[in-house]
Amino acid sequence: MKAMLVERLGPPDVMELRGVPVPQPGPGEVRLKVEAVGINFADVLAVAGEYLTRTRLPYTPGMEFAGTVDALGEGVTGVQVGQRVASLGGRGGLAQYALSPAAALIPVPGNLTAAQAAAFPVSYFTAYHGLRTLGHGKAGEWVLVQAAAGALGTASIQLAKALGMNVIAMASTEEKLQLARDLGADVTLLQDDPERVQKVRDAAGSKGVPLILEVVGGRRFQESLDMAANRGRIIVIGNASREQASLRPVELMKRNLTVTGLWLTSLMGDQEATREAAQALTPLVASGQVTPQVGPTYALADSARAFQDMLDRKTTGKVIIEP
Ligand code: NDP
Repeated sequence: MKAMLVERLGPPDVMELRGVPVPQPGPGEVRLKVEAVGINFADVLAVAGEYLTRTRLPYTPGMEFAGTVDALGEGVTGVQVGQRVASLGGRGGLAQYALSPAAALIPVPGNLTAAQAAAFPVSYFTAYHGLRTLGHGKAGEWVLVQAAAGALGTASIQLAKALGMNVIAMASTEEKLQLARDLGADVTLLQDDPERVQKVRDAAGSKGVPLILEVVGGRRFQESLDMAANRGRIIVIGNASREQASLRPVELMKRNLTVTGLWLTSLMGDQEATREAAQALTPLVASGQVTPQVGPTYALADSARAFQDMLDRKTTGKVIIEP
């Protein structure tokens, strides 16, 4: 079968298309015939060796994928060959066949295409945990969504609106802001608007924003502190700028701010939080109230271009690769 292989860390073009053996599922694993792979910013960082965890080499990227169960390893129950599933398997998706722990499978609502299914788990579970589990967002409250046209951004806008919240969306171009408005954002602002801090505070009723989903980091993190309302909650989800940020804890005192980190990988191990998120998300997706925003779609051989386009901020929605 064909798979993308990374043997050394670096920019996206270190990935190479290779012929490799079809993998055999071990105990507790299933094999999927991969139909669509959702590309996350984390995949790009992992290939560069800049992710939260060390990248073990050699490896095939692709932490989130959807397809059909093709073979079962020893001891797997509750999953059938032929079943449509998505996986948060962690690696290996950029291939014609991929292994996944059975425990990392997520059933796919029948109304989703393979690309939509591959666009669903990471972005929507992260958005839910940011807005609700850790963010404690309530209907009628304002939330600031950064990188609003991206995969997580579009999921966050849709979900916040479905939960009755008011959304301020920030992104780098007018086209991206139009997408945010199409998805229901109430107020949109260019990320480089010179008056952005005051405009965000004004939009949320002059006292600042109660909830911020912080994904850009670096200099922007300081701005999030300035935009937040008294008792505001800033959920640190990403660092797309790849810049360092500094925080003087006393600054949190002035307006009683809370800064909370969110990493989906470690939250997935919290069964209660995962069950609650799944219970909230499944009916919203099945009824079409939220629909995963599929972005540009690439062939397996064009994986490096897909990763580079994401780094160059050219993409909106979830970048998809179809093996
Ligand atoms: P996106 O599809 O949102 O792509 C990244 C976006 O980040 C870009 O489109 C761009 O939007 C924005 N951005 C801002 N500054 C830069 C920069 N200097 N270089 C590149 N992009 C920049 O990706 P994802 O939805 O996969 O991820 C969004 C963020 O959320 C990332 O930081 C990611 O690591 C994080 N994340 C974290 C998770 C967790 O568990 N903690 C889970 C999922 C995502 P614009 O041009 O509008 O600024």
